[in-house]
Amino acid sequence: MAKATHILPSADSPSSTGRQLPALPSVEELTPEQIRGAACVWCGTRLTAETAVDLGERRRPGHSAFPRGCRPCTHTAANRALQDHAPRCEQCVDDGSKCETGMALYRMIRDSRLAGGRR
Ligand SMILES: [Zn+2]
Ligand SMILES: [Zn+2]
Repeated sequence: MAKATHILPSADSPSSTGRQLPALPSVEELTPEQIRGAACVWCGTRLTAETAVDLGERRRPGHSAFPRGCRPCTHTAANRALQDHAPRCEQCVDDGSKCETGMALYRMIRDSRLAGGRR
């Protein structure tokens, strides 16, 4: 028997689109700088290599975006996303280190925590 391994929520709201990674503002609302990853997608702060956390490439038909966030925003968003994801992800409940989404979020939380605020 073919086992469906879709991540799509079936009983949930049909409109929810893969909510695994931190929800980002829709591309239409972003400035070119935010799409390029030059500014935080949430608060619009200009980012440098030291302050930015990579959120992963977002591919869309036609173009791709390379959103990045400042550390405080990323930390908050990734934490929230993980708390939202983990309890309903069988893989995370079983063994979080084997879930790509869970690990990506963990990495984001860790990266955003490394800040240290050394100036
Ligand atoms: Zn920010
Ligand atoms: Zn998971």
